[in-house]
Amino acid sequence: MQETKDIIMDYLELPTPIALILDAAGNIEHLSVEACELLGYELSELLGGNWISICLPQSWQLKTKRIYDAVSAGYKKRPQRHTYPVLAKDRRQHGLAWHIEQRLSPSGAIIGSISTGIKVRDNALQEKNVLLQSAARNQAVLDNAIEAIISINDQGTITHVNKTTEKIFGYAEQELVGQNITYLIPETEKSLEQYRNSIHHYLATDSNKLIGINRELSAKHKDGRQVPIELTVAEISIAGMRSFTGIMRDISERKISEARLKQSKEEVQQARDRLAHMDRLHIASEMSTGIAHELNQPLTAISMYAQACRNLASNGNTDVDSLLSTLIRIDNQAQRAGDIIRNIRALVGKQDPHHQLTNINDLIHSTIELAQVDIECRTIRFNCECSETLPLIEIVSGQIQQVILNLIRNACDAMTGLKPQDKTIRIITEQTSPDFITIILSDTGIGLDRDQDNEQLFQAFYSTKTHGMGMGLAISHSIINNHGGELRVNKEYRDGAEFYFTLPVMPIFGDR
Ligand code: ADP
Repeated sequence: MQETKDIIMDYLELPTPIALILDAAGNIEHLSVEACELLGYELSELLGGNWISICLPQSWQLKTKRIYDAVSAGYKKRPQRHTYPVLAKDRRQHGLAWHIEQRLSPSGAIIGSISTGIKVRDNALQEKNVLLQSAARNQAVLDNAIEAIISINDQGTITHVNKTTEKIFGYAEQELVGQNITYLIPETEKSLEQYRNSIHHYLATDSNKLIGINRELSAKHKDGRQVPIELTVAEISIAGMRSFTGIMRDISERKISEARLKQSKEEVQQARDRLAHMDRLHIASEMSTGIAHELNQPLTAISMYAQACRNLASNGNTDVDSLLSTLIRIDNQAQRAGDIIRNIRALVGKQDPHHQLTNINDLIHSTIELAQVDIECRTIRFNCECSETLPLIEIVSGQIQQVILNLIRNACDAMTGLKPQDKTIRIITEQTSPDFITIILSDTGIGLDRDQDNEQLFQAFYSTKTHGMGMGLAISHSIINNHGGELRVNKEYRDGAEFYFTLPVMPIFGDR
C-alpha cells in the first residue's frame, strides 16, 4: 500500500543495515563496518566488550537486556523486532530498528544472537512515542464520547467503532468490524436505499450532499429494537483513500422529553382555551341585562315601524315613498339587532383559532359597539385616534376582540362613580415600527397602584374587584403573546390607567 511505503521511507534513513554478533553473555563478537562508523569506535575497541553496557544509553539497558537474554536463553525462538537507540563514542544517540534472532551452533545449541539494525530518523523514536501516546489519548476520548463513532470505508464496510457504539447498539466491536453499515439500519427504514446510494452518489459526483449534518434517523439495536439517532457524517481522505466517520447520538431520551413537552404544551393550551371560553361566557352573562336591553330597542322599533306600515296600508294610503322609507327603517333596525347577536356569538362561541386578515380599526369600532350594550359603558365618551394607514394584519379576530373588550370593561369599572363628562376612554392605533402596530387604551378612572407589581397584574385570579374573576388580563396577555406581540401597562400614566399592546404586521403563529 502506497501509504505504508511512504511512512516507512519517512521513518528509515539508512537503508543499509548494520550487523551485530553477540555471544550468549551479550559480549560483542563482531560488528559490521557500518556499525563501527556509526558508533565512532574501532572494531578492536569494542570486541569482547558488553554490547548493552557500552553501546546503549542507560535508560534502555534493562529492557533491551531482557530481550537479548530471552533470545539467548531460548525463551524467544522467533526473531524479535525491537527499536532501541545506541550510544556513539561522542555520546550522541542514534535510533535503530533491530531484528534480533538466535545464533545456533552446527549442533543446534544456542550460542548467542545475531542482530541487524537499520537506522531510523534521529527523532523518529521520540515521534513514535508521542504518536503512540496521542493515539492512546484519542482512543480514550473516542471511547468516552457520548456518541457512537463508526468509521466506514468507501464500500460502506465498518472499519472501526468506539466503545459507546457497543453501548448504543448492543454489538461488540468484533461483531461490527467488517460488516456493512446497513447492518445497523432497520430494514423498514425507508432510507436504507438512500444510505447505500448516498455514498455511491457522493463518490461519483463529489458533491457535498452526503447523509447530512445532524440528521435524525432510526438505527437498529442488536435486540431488534429501533433506536432514534442523530447522525453526522465526516469524510476523511488519507493518501487518496476515502473513508467516512459517522457520529451517532442516541436521542431516545430527547425524543421522550420532546413528546412529553408537546403533550404538556397541548394540555396547557387546552386549559387556556377552556379558561378563555369560560371568561367569555362570564363576560356575556354579566352583559346579559345590557344585551337584552340593547336587543329590545331595535325589536321595539321594528314592531313600531311595522305597525305604522300596517296603519298606512289599512287606511288605504298609497304613498309609496313613506311606505318605502318606513320599510328601510325596519330593515336598518333588523340589521342592528343582527349585528348585536353576531358580535355576541363571535365573543361567546368556541373560537376557531383561525388567523384572518383584519382591519384593526374596524375591529375596535365593532368592539366598542359591543361594549356599549352595557348601560354603564354607554355613558362613556370614546375618543378614537386611529391611524388611517395601518396595514391589514393577520389575527384571530375573536381573540383580539376579547382583549379589547376586557380592557374597555376594566376601564368602565375603573370609572364607575365618576360624572359622565369625566368618563373618557381614549383609543389610539399606530404603526410604531415597520414590524409592529400598537394599540393604546387609556381611561380617566382610579388608575393602578403605582407600586403595583406588573407581573401580578397579569397573573390569573388577581382581582381587586368584589366579583372579579381576575382572568381578563391573564388571558389577554396570553392571547397577545400567542400572536407574537406584547401586552403592557404604562406605569408613567397619571390620569387613570393606560394599557397598550403590540401586534406583528407579519404574523408569528405561536404554538396554536
Ligand atoms: P377582573 O376584571 O376580573 O378583576 P382582570 O384580570 O381583567 O380581572 O383585572 C385584574 C385587576 O387589574 C383588576 O381587578 C384591577 O385591580 C386591575 N385593573 C385592570 N384594569 C384596570 C384599569 N383600567 N384601571 C384600574 N385597575 C385596573
